[in-house]
Amino acid sequence: MTEVIGAAAEAEIRADDRAYVLHSWSAQAAIDPLPIAGAEGSYFWDYTGKRYLDFSSQLVNMNIGYQHPRLVEAIKEQAERLCMISPAFANDVRGKAARLIVERATPNMDKVFFTNGGAEANENAVRMARLHTGRHKVLAAYRSYHGATAGAIALTGDPRRWASEPGTPGIVRYWGPYLYRSAFHATTEAEESERAVQHLRDLIEVEGAQTIAAIVLETVVGTNGILVPPAGYLAGVRELCDQHGIVMIADEVMSGFGRCGEWFAIQHWGVEPDLITFAKGVNSGYVPLGGVVMSQAIAATFNERAYPGGLTYSGHPLACASAVASIEIFEDEGILEHARMLGTDVIGPGLRELAERHPSVGEVRGLGVFWALELVTDRQSRTPLVPFNAAGDAAAPMNAFAAACKDRGLWPFTHFNRTHVVPPCTTTADEARAGLAILDEALTVADGYYV
Ligand code: PLP
Repeated sequence: MTEVIGAAAEAEIRADDRAYVLHSWSAQAAIDPLPIAGAEGSYFWDYTGKRYLDFSSQLVNMNIGYQHPRLVEAIKEQAERLCMISPAFANDVRGKAARLIVERATPNMDKVFFTNGGAEANENAVRMARLHTGRHKVLAAYRSYHGATAGAIALTGDPRRWASEPGTPGIVRYWGPYLYRSAFHATTEAEESERAVQHLRDLIEVEGAQTIAAIVLETVVGTNGILVPPAGYLAGVRELCDQHGIVMIADEVMSGFGRCGEWFAIQHWGVEPDLITFAKGVNSGYVPLGGVVMSQAIAATFNERAYPGGLTYSGHPLACASAVASIEIFEDEGILEHARMLGTDVIGPGLRELAERHPSVGEVRGLGVFWALELVTDRQSRTPLVPFNAAGDAAAPMNAFAAACKDRGLWPFTHFNRTHVVPPCTTTADEARAGLAILDEALTVADGYYV
């Protein structure tokens, strides 16, 4: 239900926000965050009553949709029963959440270490890999985001790391597969896959396998472009890891829990990583939660030997109760199947149709409810609509496209020259079509820059 609370309330919220809140990743003077009055399902609304269909799922975490009544109820019930018990104790919902997650992960998985979010999950995954192997280096991709804590930002390959450099030592960068802008000059998926694996093989040789603890990858690269790995790539990485005793870490913070139509995206390719990190979709962020799912082999490392890491709120009861409820709701409501259907029957075909009409759409790629349109000024040269890492005036064309979406009641997710189509997994087919119709109109703005 849309609730309009007066302009006075909105002014007060804006005033406190502007005066006291430091917002992430932005020059404070350059932003004007929209006060949000409420949300339900796939929509949120502001204090004027203007509703937005959310094609961003916030930060690609609102997989179950806003204010799911059963999920809200589960949190309330847990709050009345037990708000907090430290990780030093056993607790019913913590154990149950871990069991439900392990049972839905790849068959080699054994235990969960809970964190409060994705960055901490990656920090701990790297620590586990280093302790398990006794080695220190980690191979991490250029086109990646792994979080903003010290270790996670060091793993991150995109420009968000620049301000934190020099970061943690021992991170070695590699190029992952991305056929549309291939670092390997490949022209087919098969070539891209083969050359990307060969590139890793070469890196391992020159870095020294005996120094490499882990290869970390986003199973489907998220913020850096929804890069779906070509057939054979993940299996190739697995094989290299097996050959050299390297731990394979799949960061599924964004791609997991329904985003790609499976519990974990890697299940599309039948590959078993050694560690999977998760957060966001596990409970859609109703209460902060993340974690690392670890294989039997890695869990065994910490049987006789302490795991030297911990967090006061690890496995927080409110977070775990909400993860249990969310997983049960996903199953009861067939949300994984629905997300797959949205991808194959509605969003995928709808976006390809937009690409036929709009010259500015250079490429459409994705699966489930995890899609990207790459916008260009020229399809032949694939010149991006805005340059890499564009900000300020250089970003104007993308800002104009985003504004056209927002004016029409669609909240987009834009990054550099791309718009990602990442609505909640529970978005109805009709809502998705309504969003695509708005994108259709907004793309005429992007077409205006086509040369
Ligand atoms: N890993 C990936 C793939 C992500 O997309 C993100 C956040 O967007 C993170 C890790 C960091 O998660 P958090 O913001 O919960 O620390």
